[in-house]
Amino acid sequence: MHRYFIKTPWLLRRIFPKYVWEAPAADGAVYLTFDDGPHETITPWVLDQLAQFDAKATFFCIGKNVAAHPGLFNRITTEGHAVGNHTENHRNGWKTPVEEYLANVRLAAARIPGSLFRPPYGRIRAAQARGLASAMGVPNPQVIMWDVLSADFDRSIRSAQCTANVLNHTRPGSIIVFHDSEKAWPNLKEALPVVLRTFRERGYVMKAL
Ligand SMILES: [Zn+2]
Repeated sequence: MHRYFIKTPWLLRRIFPKYVWEAPAADGAVYLTFDDGPHETITPWVLDQLAQFDAKATFFCIGKNVAAHPGLFNRITTEGHAVGNHTENHRNGWKTPVEEYLANVRLAAARIPGSLFRPPYGRIRAAQARGLASAMGVPNPQVIMWDVLSADFDRSIRSAQCTANVLNHTRPGSIIVFHDSEKAWPNLKEALPVVLRTFRERGYVMKAL
């Protein structure tokens, strides 16, 4: 059995109502997100794929990767995609003391502007969430969770499963998680083109958050 949910259970949403689990569904909008980049070869490939389908997306970047690939980070925003903070070093909120966690968010915020935040592993404690405004320097930070997990990071599943995870669970308003990372690459490179093509056939509009 997998240790994650493909479709976020309603109970989890009920427990954390302040976090964002899906976005406006008008016009058949769906929201692709890519975590853990920028990566020097995978992120450009993702951007090229998105451009082919006139799709916009949101990239939750790791601060140290932005520092390593500033040109790529600029390309993401120049091409009309949104960016969000995913901490400086991919910290797990459940395993990191509050002050240390927020200091890590602050480092990333110096490189990644805006109010969007996604906690690595989806794990953040209430005290950490309360400190985000100060750490990010914005009045209303938004903790963006998700509705559909592709599980592209799971090397024990085939890319067809990853594709099915997304296609079977997405509806207008869904926030979908992929990763522009080496771990996810074997699944991502097969799944993303099929997902983009199918979404277009369904008439979905792929928007940035
Ligand atoms: Zn991550």
